[in-house]
Amino acid sequence: MTAPGGRDSIPLVAGDDALLVPGRSCGTCTMCCKLMVVPELKKPQGTWCTHCAPRSGCTIYETRPTSCRQFYCGYLTSPGVGENWRPLHARMLLMKVDGGIAAVVDRDRKDTWKQPQYYEQLKAWSRQGMAEGWFVIVRVDKHVTAILPDSDVELGPMESGEGIEIGWHPTPTGTRYEAKKIPAQIAADAVP
Ligand code: SF4
Ligand code: SF4
Repeated sequence: MTAPGGRDSIPLVAGDDALLVPGRSCGTCTMCCKLMVVPELKKPQGTWCTHCAPRSGCTIYETRPTSCRQFYCGYLTSPGVGENWRPLHARMLLMKVDGGIAAVVDRDRKDTWKQPQYYEQLKAWSRQGMAEGWFVIVRVDKHVTAILPDSDVELGPMESGEGIEIGWHPTPTGTRYEAKKIPAQIAADAVP
């Protein structure tokens, strides 16, 4: 699996400041404290963590859970991600998922990814991903949309463990792409 900017350029688990793009930091951004699941706290996706002071920081910083300590979004870790993807501004964050990358979007700005500056980049990454074997999705809470080079496919709500299968076939007018959701057991069986 590769990602924009090169192989493993959007690590989910970094834990190493050396992987950060020089000059980039969280600053006053706290978007992952809303957009990410924090299993240790049973915090669901899309709602503010009760320990977050938005645009300020974590009120339990010294004792925050491991998953918080290890998370670095794509803006921080990938030189191929432009400054306009700063999560506080974009109202979404980029992260690596199994098989590709995801733009995880703030439910209160659920259409932000459709702005040309983001949508065209998502499409460009999709074209790159199809050539290199990874895919691009947009996620608003549990609702997932697959971004394909020639279309966007609404996959609906997805639960943990479910997978995505991407297919394509040649047509007289060019390659047509398809995406579908696959059940958890099939997704598990597909892991080499
Ligand atoms: S979303 Fe990214 S930039 Fe914002 S606080 Fe989280 S890790 Fe930092
Ligand atoms: S524990 Fe702290 S770092 Fe983790 S989600 Fe909550 S506010 Fe953010």
